Amino acid sequence: MPTWAELVFLLCAVGFILALKGLSGPRTARVGNLVGAGAAVVACVVPFFYADLDHVALILVAIVIGTAIGAVGAQRVQMTQMPQLVALFNGVGGGAAALVALLELEHFADATDVGVDVPAAYLVATAFTILVGAVSFSGSVVTFAKLQELMTSRPVVPPGLAFAFAGSLLAALVLAGVLIDEPVVWVGVALALVGLLLGVLLVLPVGGADVPIVISLLNAFTGLTVAAGGYVLQNTVLLVAGTLVGASGTFLTLLMAGAMGRSVANILFGALKGGSTLGSGEASDRPVRSATPEDVAILLGYAERVIVVPGYGLAVAQAQHTLRELVEVLGARGTEVDYAIHPVAGRMPGHMNVLLAEAQVPYEQLKEMDDINGDFRQTDVVLVVGANDVVNPAARTTPSAPIYGMPILDVDQARQVVFLKRSMRPGFAGIENELLFEPQTTLLFGDAKDTLGKLLTAVKSL
Ligand code: NDP
Repeated sequence: MPTWAELVFLLCAVGFILALKGLSGPRTARVGNLVGAGAAVVACVVPFFYADLDHVALILVAIVIGTAIGAVGAQRVQMTQMPQLVALFNGVGGGAAALVALLELEHFADATDVGVDVPAAYLVATAFTILVGAVSFSGSVVTFAKLQELMTSRPVVPPGLAFAFAGSLLAALVLAGVLIDEPVVWVGVALALVGLLLGVLLVLPVGGADVPIVISLLNAFTGLTVAAGGYVLQNTVLLVAGTLVGASGTFLTLLMAGAMGRSVANILFGALKGGSTLGSGEASDRPVRSATPEDVAILLGYAERVIVVPGYGLAVAQAQHTLRELVEVLGARGTEVDYAIHPVAGRMPGHMNVLLAEAQVPYEQLKEMDDINGDFRQTDVVLVVGANDVVNPAARTTPSAPIYGMPILDVDQARQVVFLKRSMRPGFAGIENELLFEPQTTLLFGDAKDTLGKLLTAVKSL
């Protein structure tokens, strides 16, 4: 590789690091994203100028098709469907790394045939890339199917799953050992097939709220396979990019698991022990106190301190702009209002921050859970807009609840709590929320955009 190409790759690697830095804060995230994408484009273009490539036309056609699918997919996807898009893109990355490793294996096999000794470290990295890339591909496809509701999102535990998993893992290790001993293409193909099976078996028993965490884990897997692929191909930019993805995916997995009060092992294998990660999902028919937007407007009119808790339903209703307007009107009336952001509110990390930033809500009004939890005791009204699990006291009180142990927003300590939701259906974890039946709670039924609009009109006319 010429020195100029090495230098450009180094700049791309710096670009990826700067991108991650930018993505760590809402003000710089957009620029960070563009820097990362720009570096990736440059890294893809550089080989055309120094490498002696075969099938250039085919490569260009593949790039055009991939770009078109990626661009159209990313434009069309709803914000709430982002996790499944990430799953799909991630799976494709893992699959691509596995295919590249299979091709390299063919070169290694040819080299061995003519008596050239291939270093064992290359063969280890190749076996790793084939196996983990295949796991990441099939696992991501299953997570996509679960989140897109193409199959049940509940844990699927067919009889003998644990044995099948252990057997496949053993077979994978044996095949990897054979491949490292001698590079043979059919062994690599068999390893890839076992990897595909392992990916399916790994993700099938994961259900409900845990699926997005598994996406993050598979993302880390893909990063590691790309890094190993970079080592095999002696390509520094792949090595650096893969390592960054692997490390950040691992951190994200641990952070999400921590925010849900679970261990990664429990998330992956909890269902094998018979535990469920989802409740029944049935709507309750117990009596609750409901009110009209005008009643709630009066409540808000008298309040000095209000906290808004946004959740997944706010994203579904796309009511973030109306909510921001309501908060502004209350602020203008002298009410102190903040937004309380739970780390796993919505369906992806940072979901609420992105949603509210889109509606131009000032960042300083967004308060993290640990910073605001002490304030609920002195709060007159909490407006829970399309959130449920993140305020469900069962996380503290009910050991059998799937969300037990998850830190929650202490909304139950406020003087009045108003829930904006459409029905008595539970949240993502599928369990009833006792707080809905407490004396301090009022329900304002309807689509959040519609009810917030009515609430806004009513508050304005106070
Ligand atoms: P929940 O899924 O618990 O609750 C959403 C609420 O919104 C429901 O009560 C629903 O009730 C209501 N809702 C839905 N659509 C509308 C609408 N159009 N208008 C008004 N209300 C609506 O959401 P939370 O944000 O509280 O919790 C997130 C859950 O997702 C947690 O269980 C978390 O563990 C999980 N999760 C989050 C991840 C993340 O990274 N953020 C990742 C993985 C899982 P109704 O249907 O009656 O309207």
